[in-house]
Amino acid sequence: MPEGPEIRRAADALGAALIERPLTTLWFHRADLRRRGKALAGRSIVAVRPWGKAMLTEFEGGWQLYSHNQLYGRWMIVPSGTRPETKRSLRVVLENVEDAALLYSASDIAILAPGEWQSHPFLSRLGPDIFHADTTPVRLRARLADRRFARKPVGALLMHQPFVAGLGNYLRSEILFAARLHPARRAGELDADAAGRLSRAMTQLAERAYRTGGETAPKSWVKARRRAGEGWQQARHWVFNREELPCPECEAPIRRITFDGRRLYLCPHCQQEPAS
Ligand SMILES: [Zn+2]
Repeated sequence: MPEGPEIRRAADALGAALIERPLTTLWFHRADLRRRGKALAGRSIVAVRPWGKAMLTEFEGGWQLYSHNQLYGRWMIVPSGTRPETKRSLRVVLENVEDAALLYSASDIAILAPGEWQSHPFLSRLGPDIFHADTTPVRLRARLADRRFARKPVGALLMHQPFVAGLGNYLRSEILFAARLHPARRAGELDADAAGRLSRAMTQLAERAYRTGGETAPKSWVKARRRAGEGWQQARHWVFNREELPCPECEAPIRRITFDGRRLYLCPHCQQEPAS
């Protein structure tokens, strides 16, 4: 399952192919989208950005094409005029003289007039995107103390899209380890130091994973693990996918648990369970 950093990289690739290039083809598989899509005719694409796991393609005048890939949807970028060999069903075509951006298999697609996202059933419930310029550690810290979220354990909150959108399962384990926090700690009970560490780890690790294509540990760590013979899938993290391997801080064996229904990796020594 792609997480925020992977979706943002996909948005970058779409943006590079589409922004400010006049569309030669704008096509939708669904009749209602084709009717609605007439509002987009003649407008350029000005931005493509992620919002959590959704993708927003923004047209001049504030119109937006919303798409959410769920499990099967996939954007492909191919040279204009060509179509890949695939059994997937084509849902959207955005094509200019150089490139064609093709959305396959996604079922959750909408065309939104300016401001209409506020009544969209999915978008209206989403918290701020982790990569949005306004999503700063200061703002995240304020949200940790917000009464909507303060009673939740941080291990659930990091995956709770109304809190912040775009963090997924590998980021959750890595952020909690970076902040040295056990997932059962409640957001509202963190002291200023812990809340600060957690908020900074959220933005820093998401940003690092975006920049590096999925690494949450620093380059020096990844290189050292690779030299020691580990594959990149394992070497790129501090604790995620590293059950029984030594903690980078204290060398205690990393433990795998299930938390809020998903696997989570932690150091039992560095991330002490709260006294109940
Ligand atoms: Zn440790």
